[in-house]
Amino acid sequence: MTNQPPRRPATNLIHAGRIRTEMQENSEALFLTSGYVYDDAEQAAAAFANEIQHHQYTRFSNPTTAMLEARLCAIEGADACRCTATGMAAVNAALLCALKTGDRVVAARALFGSCHWIVSTLLPQYGIDAVFVDGSDLDAWATALGRKTALVLLETPSNPMLDMVDLKAVCELAHAAGAIVVVDNVFATPLLQRPLEFGADVVVYSATKHMDGQGRVLGGAVLSSKKWIDEVFQPFFRNTGPTISPFNAWVILKGLETMGLRVAAQSAGAEAIARFLESSPKISRSLYPTLKSHPQHELAMAQMSGGGTIVAFELAGGQQAAFRLLNGLKIITISNNLGDTKSLATHPATTTHLRIGAEERGRLGITDGIIRLSVGLEDPLDLIEDLTQALQVV
Ligand SMILES: *Cc1c(COP(=O)(O)O)cnc(C)c1O
Repeated sequence: MTNQPPRRPATNLIHAGRIRTEMQENSEALFLTSGYVYDDAEQAAAAFANEIQHHQYTRFSNPTTAMLEARLCAIEGADACRCTATGMAAVNAALLCALKTGDRVVAARALFGSCHWIVSTLLPQYGIDAVFVDGSDLDAWATALGRKTALVLLETPSNPMLDMVDLKAVCELAHAAGAIVVVDNVFATPLLQRPLEFGADVVVYSATKHMDGQGRVLGGAVLSSKKWIDEVFQPFFRNTGPTISPFNAWVILKGLETMGLRVAAQSAGAEAIARFLESSPKISRSLYPTLKSHPQHELAMAQMSGGGTIVAFELAGGQQAAFRLLNGLKIITISNNLGDTKSLATHPATTTHLRIGAEERGRLGITDGIIRLSVGLEDPLDLIEDLTQALQVV
């Protein structure tokens, strides 16, 4: 490496990790190939013996995917990355590669639905003990991490209530218990929060969300130290095959080029909408990290550089009011995806968080009046007008 100054995120989003072939293409090439060829049998043998770097099979590596992985490393400030077929494949692989029977996991209760299922249902099937804590309660973390623990999983801000976990404090407690910390950073994106800087060991993403950002493909990513990826993650990844399609990797690579602009504009829109909702008498709560009314506003501002693209709010009239609002929207559509250029709203209690049950929803504060709004790239004034007209029928 030459001693070039480190580049800024906006530049990395466009250029980092680029591999240009002898065709001199400007836009990154899509290597839609499952296998690779060798000059001779000796080269194949050397590749499999790890004596030379040579792609062997797209389940292990692919040049288009390698560009995406290198670009994500540059943005995250991580040494190594592997991309996966979905965000859940990333979370599942990051957990299962590191755990064995008899291990103990401590997780924040406020997790994405399928992450919650892996910890509460799948891991115990393999004899891995799982404990949930209230992510915002440092005393609860300290108690749970008073015993030897293998892994901590958390999400901050959380889906859908935008609860914060104190990354620095929890990483210290976890490390003292012998645990590695895996952070699901989907809501913040690497542009607004970099968990490795607060002590996290592994960061996972659903690239389906802001990285593609245009609702087209699924993908995921796992980022960590080179040592952890090479020694712990790669054997599991290579042999179990949660690999991303090179086509999807290419779409996401192109998505990253505009992610900075999208996330900045969508976050500005989300803040404007959260302020508008806060002033409406039909809304009992409007949750957004940069609002002073957010219960963990100061922590959010200490570890995030922006509030993100998601707003959660509660209709005073409960589920009936929430459904009326959703059904009255004309621009914002009903969808459980998020991070898209199109604004999407969902009712978590009857969709994404239906299966965790009423009791767990109660613990998480997901009442029947809560709506999660993923703010898109439309003009925020049109979105506020859309909400205003829909609120009139509530
Ligand atoms: C969407 C999402 C996932 C799962 O990602 P998929 O790409 O849908 O598999 C995991 N965690 C969070 C916070 C998410 O929003």
